Amino acid sequence: MAARLPEALYDKIKFFAKFPQTSVSLRQMVEFGTKPTVGTMFKATQFLREELPVRLAHRVVELENLPYNLSNMASVRRVRDWYAESFTELVDFPRMETPAALKARDRVTVDANGHVVPPPIHRYFTPVDPAAAVPAECEAYNTAFVELIENIKRRHDPTVATVAQGIKELKAQHGLPHIDAQVQNFLDRFYMSRIGIRMLIGQHVALHKLPARDDYVGIICTKTNVAQVAQEAIDNARFICEDHYALFSAPNVQLYCPDDLHFMYVPSHLHHMLFELLKNSLRAVVERYGPDADHFPPVKVVVAEGREDITIKVSDEGGGIARSGMPLIWTYLYTTAPAQPEPETPGSSDFKAPMAGFGYGLPLSRLYARYFGGDLRLISMEGYGTDAYLHLSRLSDSEEPLP
Ligand code: ADP
Ligand code: MG
Repeated sequence: MAARLPEALYDKIKFFAKFPQTSVSLRQMVEFGTKPTVGTMFKATQFLREELPVRLAHRVVELENLPYNLSNMASVRRVRDWYAESFTELVDFPRMETPAALKARDRVTVDANGHVVPPPIHRYFTPVDPAAAVPAECEAYNTAFVELIENIKRRHDPTVATVAQGIKELKAQHGLPHIDAQVQNFLDRFYMSRIGIRMLIGQHVALHKLPARDDYVGIICTKTNVAQVAQEAIDNARFICEDHYALFSAPNVQLYCPDDLHFMYVPSHLHHMLFELLKNSLRAVVERYGPDADHFPPVKVVVAEGREDITIKVSDEGGGIARSGMPLIWTYLYTTAPAQPEPETPGSSDFKAPMAGFGYGLPLSRLYARYFGGDLRLISMEGYGTDAYLHLSRLSDSEEPLP
């Protein structure tokens, strides 16, 4: 791992970071990916071939300019190197276009304020005439690109755990009790961007590889059944809880949700958020009453269907959080759980969370909610319990927030 990026490479990255990122809404992903042909997939390949390096470049520049000398930390540099490597692979991936199209795209102008005016890049959802002739090489080109981005996605799997390690070291070095707003804002931007990049890659790979499934477009389920996903999250969280506290039976979780309630969403995101909220509630209840208690008050999950939002409330009687502690729960690495052993295979998957202890559950879940236009809030009654409100937008037109 080099201390610094080679200058020519960093210059190139800085150039790409001047281009604005292009956001895509859930609806666009679905409209685009319904019954994709080789031609549509080719368009998507071209879009990602331009868009991903821009998104990665924005992150590298930020990683190189962090406060507190964070940029020079070994773990942060490692992550920066992954970003730079993936950037290089993407820009080295050949472009397959007519010379005229390439020329138009590479024409860069600078406005009076010195901002780069981007060339007309492909929009993700440029309609493709299904009858139009598709060059024979397209299929092989698409496949090669899918292989490349799958590889990139895998390379970045340990990112969350690795950055967290760096922040932990920073806190220790500076004796910071909590991270400050500057670091918090950086992490919010960084992880939000990561969610977006992984969504685009995951969606593209799924469209290319997975056989067509009813009600699915890539990894998006057009009829995500809320009760079903919630029940899975409940079962998983209770299982982890029983395992962690060596309980015969974890507190009950009562689910109030119409069986047939469904909306367009990414089921794995919904599962992730509910799983985190439920683990927090179960932990609070078990710790308040003690693992040996004969009886635990149940946790309640209430789902409401509005016109704009589906809101899911997770309510517990776990004793709540002091008002002074409320701002802290959203900061990364804040936890009241005892320190966790390092994961055995660091970052083996996309941050596999144990019962508690990393202090990433709430802030990351809120990012997942916001990514598709939703939000997450917590209201607590100290001495009684906590209500978490997960708002999920049903409209699906909100564009990715791109930091
Ligand atoms: P972790 O669970 O790893 O500690 P989280 O981000 O999920 O990280 O939660 C941060 C902290 O917020 C917890 O350690 C706990 O102190 C507090 N907290 C979260 N949810 C609840 C809850 N339902 N009741 C009481 N405290 C909670
Ligand atoms: Mg948690």
